[in-house]
Amino acid sequence: MEDKTQKKVLGFQTRAVHTGNEVDKDTGAIKRPITMANSYALPYDPSDLNWSSAGKNLYTRNGGSNQQYLQEKIASLEGGEDCVVLASGVAALSGLFFALLQSGDHVIFSSVTYIAVYRLLNELFNNKFKVETTIVDTSDLEEVKNAIRPNTKLIHIETPGNPTLTVADIKALAGIAHEHGILLSVDNTFASPYNQRPIELGADFSVESLTKYINGHGDAMGGSITGKKQYLDIIRAQAQVNLGGAISPFNAWLIMRGAVTLPLRMKQHNENALKVAGYLETVQGVRFVSYPGLKSHPGHETAKRQMNPGYGGVLSFGLKADHDTHNRFVSYLRIITSAVSLGHDESLIVFIGENDERQYLYPNEFHAGFFRFSVGIEDGEDIIEDLEQAFALTFHN
Ligand SMILES: *Cc1c(COP(=O)(O)O)cnc(C)c1O
Repeated sequence: MEDKTQKKVLGFQTRAVHTGNEVDKDTGAIKRPITMANSYALPYDPSDLNWSSAGKNLYTRNGGSNQQYLQEKIASLEGGEDCVVLASGVAALSGLFFALLQSGDHVIFSSVTYIAVYRLLNELFNNKFKVETTIVDTSDLEEVKNAIRPNTKLIHIETPGNPTLTVADIKALAGIAHEHGILLSVDNTFASPYNQRPIELGADFSVESLTKYINGHGDAMGGSITGKKQYLDIIRAQAQVNLGGAISPFNAWLIMRGAVTLPLRMKQHNENALKVAGYLETVQGVRFVSYPGLKSHPGHETAKRQMNPGYGGVLSFGLKADHDTHNRFVSYLRIITSAVSLGHDESLIVFIGENDERQYLYPNEFHAGFFRFSVGIEDGEDIIEDLEQAFALTFHN
């Protein structure tokens, strides 16, 4: 969003509040309304309309007003040319892969990613559509370079990666990809555009699960892909109109409302997570802590260069204890809830056991079972006190 008088790009917080919103012309309301209509009025002679055109207010799976407003806001926050919002983060990922990849193409992706990426690329796209796949540790640039083939079309990374918080160097990988005519997509969900903007670092696409930090309240699902219009036109047609991954107008409206406070919430997530990670490092019974904001994290220097002002709210850690003790620890928590998902207002913890099928892809310390902890925006001291009393019960009973 540009300041209309001075032509200067406004600050991130100002854009989070204003971009995508205008005074509603019909009612004068200063918030644009929710439009829960499946269809839009046709012109006098509709016979030459393309029923599959995307981005048009024709039918809500082709395009709709709430979806359009949210796209404007996300594109602005990510610093991208164009954006499509879809029903979930997975709808965004599958839509991106479906739109970009053909049989015979090769894709390189991170050994640490959201489970759906592993399922889609490692099980579905290669078996069903004959897309070649290579899984590499994308924090190691040499491994990525060595994996490149003449038919490599896409490098897909996640940084920080779910669930180990492994960090990859976006700028360096964009350089390597573009030198070989390869596209780079980055799943930016853990950082959110407040802390990290992949497109400004040279990536072609930034993918978000809007379900997480951008909505932030744990009550609506959505996903987005931001990038150049030339690709977004194709992705929108494939992912939204043909695959049918359209977002509900109500969810688009909820996420639009949540996104207004993204900067304020992220400040608190960043601050709390750094405090909690520092605290966990001092606890006797803790085997390891992984958080990009800690000096002990192998990706800290890279994270410091590409994440600003903070490192997000998610960390992982393991106990010097067996499987059942990890479960017992969680049962003692009073404020922190045991549930999947992350980036909600409330703190959420999940125990990932030693039988996770992707364990072999993770760094060694993750082989014995660990927690993924999404630190919420409660008072930091209350979160730490909750952990303290659970540690006391776990290790002294
Ligand atoms: C949750 C998540 C997704 C998937 O998003 P949904 O909205 O749940 O479909 C994708 N990537 C990352 C990193 C996630 O944490």
